[in-house]
Amino acid sequence: MTAAGRFAPSPSGELHLGNLRTALLAWLFARSSGRRFLVRVEDLDRARAGAEAVQLRDLAAVGLDWDDDVVRQTERTPVYEEALGRLAAAGLTYECYCTRREIQEAPSAPHAPQGAYPGTCRDLTEAQRVRRRAERPAAIRLRAAVTEWAVTDVLHGRYVGVVDDFVLRRNDGVVAYNLAVVVDDAAQGVDQVVRGDDLLPSTPRQAYLAGLLGYRVPEYAHVPLVLNAAGRRLAKRDGAVTLAALAAEGVSAEQVTALLLESVGLPGTLPEALAVFSPSALPRTPWILDPVAPSRLHGEAPRRP
Ligand code: GLU
Repeated sequence: MTAAGRFAPSPSGELHLGNLRTALLAWLFARSSGRRFLVRVEDLDRARAGAEAVQLRDLAAVGLDWDDDVVRQTERTPVYEEALGRLAAAGLTYECYCTRREIQEAPSAPHAPQGAYPGTCRDLTEAQRVRRRAERPAAIRLRAAVTEWAVTDVLHGRYVGVVDDFVLRRNDGVVAYNLAVVVDDAAQGVDQVVRGDDLLPSTPRQAYLAGLLGYRVPEYAHVPLVLNAAGRRLAKRDGAVTLAALAAEGVSAEQVTALLLESVGLPGTLPEALAVFSPSALPRTPWILDPVAPSRLHGEAPRRP
């Protein structure tokens, strides 16, 4: 299978400038390295009716194209269950009956990193399991043999982060993001993962799991986020930060593409940006969205380099 990069939005609402900027970068990483570019809809959780169609329309509007049909995670349950079955057969999973509160209140295991699952259900006897199972449906956790794992990132270099007994299938039966993302990337031939750097802390878990499942660990590039003037992650309440809201102010999709490309130091159209794209030249720090920047674009043609 030809190598591929991807963009994997959760269809929870409209994409904002931060999501669009990450999508443009994922496309540039893939296309500049001869990879296919795929779009995967991560709709296991937080899916809102109609959001997927709007997201795909907006990705096309900023100039992106992708190969193959869009893949939806809700259509792939048997594939995740197969992977879960292989882990279970290898003794690498266990049932967990903890509520969120029980996890918070449990004394953490000695030397356990902050926020790691305390291991409450790891070594229960069969009799204890039978009793607990009757109380509430079980989640499935990974029986991790390590507490941390190192990954290499194109922009961050070596990054070591926590691996705990993380959830693979929630107790409502829905497969957890960390399992789905690893299985899907492997199944789709994705060998380059470009996404927002808010996901860097999850990456050691995913890379470790990929290894357990016999997959090759992809190349990672975690790109800086877009922040609002207060230094917080961009959100819809920050004003005109979606294509539709900007269009209502007279800002075209081409102008948005130019603004986003220029924010990473690239010329303002995709073909021009592709011609000079170099991962090592990308900024390593968040882009603080100047609230006047979009309105400054009113009626102006995108700037040329
Ligand atoms: N669906 C995730 C999100 O929108 C991204 C997952 C990924 O790129 O691995 O935050």
